[in-house]
Amino acid sequence: MERGIFIIAFFFICFHLGGLATTNILRLTFGAKLPVLSSKCHCDHCGAAITPFYQLPVISYIVCKGKCRNCGIRIPKFGLMLEIIVMVGMFITLVCFDFSVLGVTLSFIYYEVIRFLVVMKHGKREMDFKKQYVIAVLAMVPFYAMTAFVALLYGVVCKG
Ligand SMILES: [Zn+2]
Repeated sequence: MERGIFIIAFFFICFHLGGLATTNILRLTFGAKLPVLSSKCHCDHCGAAITPFYQLPVISYIVCKGKCRNCGIRIPKFGLMLEIIVMVGMFITLVCFDFSVLGVTLSFIYYEVIRFLVVMKHGKREMDFKKQYVIAVLAMVPFYAMTAFVALLYGVVCKG
């Protein structure tokens, strides 16, 4: 029972980080203008604001059938792929290491490797690249601390 609750919690953390990747990683790439931490989110084509529900990773893509609700332009599949790669990869890493703090550490290293590869592939953003990269990495610290804490709790409750 407890184990199931922890696994769901870990899954939601990975789900959230998958969504985060589209700002925290994609905003470091060529053509991005918004600061990585900005909560603003809008269609690159028509500028329509995207409300929180429609920022839900994967789900919003499916609900909107991959199109902007305002102008109907196709949303690049890359964002969806990135969400899935981060989410699934981090969760599998956690499972492989039985939700230990080591597993949490490796899954966050995996996130950083994905970030590095995406920036290499798409090119650096033109404005404030270094500063934004540092901010984006630092923004992971609270998530890492929280996930490591959940892993410690899991160890105490489920592994004795
Ligand atoms: Zn649009």
